[in-house]
Amino acid sequence: MRSFADAEVSVRITVFLGAPGSGKGTQAKLLSQSDRFVHLSTGDILRNAIKEGTPLGREAKTFMDKGELVPDATMIGLIKDTLSKLKPDQHVILDGFPRTVAQAEALNSNTATQVEHALLFEIVDSLLIDRLTGRRVCKQCGQPFHMKHIRPKKEGICDLCNGEVIQRSDDHEDVVKRRLEIFHSQNKGLVDYYSDKHKLKRINVDQPADSVQKILMELLK
Ligand code: AMP
Repeated sequence: MRSFADAEVSVRITVFLGAPGSGKGTQAKLLSQSDRFVHLSTGDILRNAIKEGTPLGREAKTFMDKGELVPDATMIGLIKDTLSKLKPDQHVILDGFPRTVAQAEALNSNTATQVEHALLFEIVDSLLIDRLTGRRVCKQCGQPFHMKHIRPKKEGICDLCNGEVIQRSDDHEDVVKRRLEIFHSQNKGLVDYYSDKHKLKRINVDQPADSVQKILMELLK
């Protein structure tokens, strides 16, 4: 198992836990608009690697297309490299990592980083399926849309950057169901792990995004 022991940065970390579609990325992006937080999404890093056709991207794609998790060794190595490039004393919102107890343990073993909070975004699966299968994203800037609730003003074109609005290949219904299955199989272990360390807080995210944002700001004050 790879560990972070040789990382050379000192960063505070808030981990966002929760099912795909529970709004982790949206909330992390909102928080990172203030200079207080840096948003790191492992899903975004992997999607960029796929776009650029790197060896990491080629490896990750085979798992992501099926809704499966990329192996722990790859993800731990990736996050270690990413964290080591940050400036000391930054407050990182980690969105999408850890997804397994092995990843949480690796993060914990890094003496140069400190997980301060693990925030669990809670919402029922039926709402997640609607959110994910209806979700569309801008290929260029990542801005999320929804086919029912937040359509782009011009069909298929991003309101912000005029990029192409697409459906992520892992947002098709069969893949979404597999991603949720995997989430539930791993989540209990992570919840127990962070509960035991007295770091877990649960947030009901079946409410408007700005209400969730207020709760987060209060928790992270
Ligand atoms: P996300 O955008 O966070 O929903 O991630 C999209 C996909 O990237 C996941 O379904 C996994 O295939 C892969 N992925 C992202 N983060 C991780 C991780 N920490 N461990 C394993 N696979 C990951």
